[in-house]
Amino acid sequence: MLATPIGNLEDITLRALRILGEVDIVFCEDTRVTRKLLNKYDLHANLQSMNACSEEGKIDHIMDLLADGKKIAYVSDAGTPCISDPGVKLVSAVRMFNKSAGHEKQIKIAGIPGASALATALSVAGIPTNKFLFFGFLPKKKGRVTMIKEICESKYTVVFYESSHRILKLMYQLKAYASHKKITVARELTKVYEEVLQGSADDILAEFENNPQKQKGEFVVMVSE
Ligand code: SAM
Repeated sequence: MLATPIGNLEDITLRALRILGEVDIVFCEDTRVTRKLLNKYDLHANLQSMNACSEEGKIDHIMDLLADGKKIAYVSDAGTPCISDPGVKLVSAVRMFNKSAGHEKQIKIAGIPGASALATALSVAGIPTNKFLFFGFLPKKKGRVTMIKEICESKYTVVFYESSHRILKLMYQLKAYASHKKITVARELTKVYEEVLQGSADDILAEFENNPQKQKGEFVVMVSE
């Protein structure tokens, strides 16, 4: 499980680059996205896809390759695999296999750390981070309001991911249920238009409405005291 950049292609470790150059196969979410990263570093890995839709169906194939001694890296499109990204089912399959396999047949799993939007956002927010809850993506419709109420009632900082399609709607919802909370929105982290907006939901809403271009891009939202 190998972490890749969340925007700026320089955000990858030396170890990750070495491993991408050494493994037999790099499984990735989208070969076009990962190819760009590999091209930047002149790496010529054997790239194959495994995304959220195909993860279930590809596990047996990957397990056969691993049991055969092949070295495999898994990368998602951006950031750390398994954090609101595919990879969990594969790791779980390897762990199940290892439980029943003998000592000499164990498959080693390593996390190759690197960027994650979650940690990057918290590191620039200036809000309590000693205890926080991470909600991934909120539901698009059913259960969304219930979850937003839960977020607003939490005494801990709550962090979640939101897409540009729903960021404005989210601010209206936070305005309705969390007018007393501090909202931090980390947008386009590590990229050209990177910025952090902080204030009440009302303040952020005004910022978005006065500058519609700020509603574009990728967002991490944090709700705190
Ligand atoms: N596994 C990834 C990680 O470790 O950060 C997250 C993958 S999730 C499918 C993608 C979401 O992460 C985006 O919709 C956005 O909410 C957040 N995200 C990813 N890159 C970001 C960035 N550069 N700036 C802000 N948020 C980002």
